[in-house]
Amino acid sequence: MEKIAVQSIAPYCNIDITNISAGVNGYRKGMQIMDFILATNNMKKLVEMQRILSPLNINAVTAKMLGITLEDAEENGETFEDNARLKAQNACSQTNMPAVADDSGLCVDYLNGAPGVYSARFAGEHGNDEKNNDLLLEKLSGVPDEKRTARYVCAVCCVFPNGRKILVRGECSGKIGYERDGSEGFGYDPFFIVDGKSFGRYTAEEKDKISHRGKALRLFTDELRKYI
Ligand code: IMP
Repeated sequence: MEKIAVQSIAPYCNIDITNISAGVNGYRKGMQIMDFILATNNMKKLVEMQRILSPLNINAVTAKMLGITLEDAEENGETFEDNARLKAQNACSQTNMPAVADDSGLCVDYLNGAPGVYSARFAGEHGNDEKNNDLLLEKLSGVPDEKRTARYVCAVCCVFPNGRKILVRGECSGKIGYERDGSEGFGYDPFFIVDGKSFGRYTAEEKDKISHRGKALRLFTDELRKYI
């Protein structure tokens, strides 16, 4: 089996792929298409991830698309990186396929980084964007423009069946607006303002270019590209 040397570590990039070998399940050097399992049930994230990964000939599938059910990973990490790793490890160990997971969220400076890893369940109910946004607005009520700075963070982790992993992080800085603006994207996008307009008014392609997830996935693909 061919051994691949450890590479230099890019900023925001923790890569540990010593001994990834040609022939690892679904990761075959020289092959056109690689099958990776995406450890997410969020269809909007899935679409974003597939769009970014497909140019690399990565065939990103979900457990559902494979007709299997994955036991959920416990997302009890304290950082985005911890949670992305937990999710990827969980999917890889249950499928024996290379698994990619992301963990992402919004960190608001005035709220000392909250909602952070709790972004999806900020208002209590997992994935209720409406309620999460209402709570965010409430907590920032009366807070002036210059203190409404925030950033989206995304950690992406890929775990291979041989236990090796790639872990990267992307960030996107912006400000929290005062009212909903636009209907594109998901989650906090109608309130997240970059260059004078909310992510709710960015096209998917515009968002990919500057978003935390776009940056993290490009870093990830850069690392992966070195080995295919
Ligand atoms: P996760 O599924 O645990 O990573 O939760 C991510 C949560 O962070 C989502 O439910 C959204 O509330 C928020 N979030 C992450 N990325 C984005 C984004 O690109 N736009 C809007 N909200 C996001």
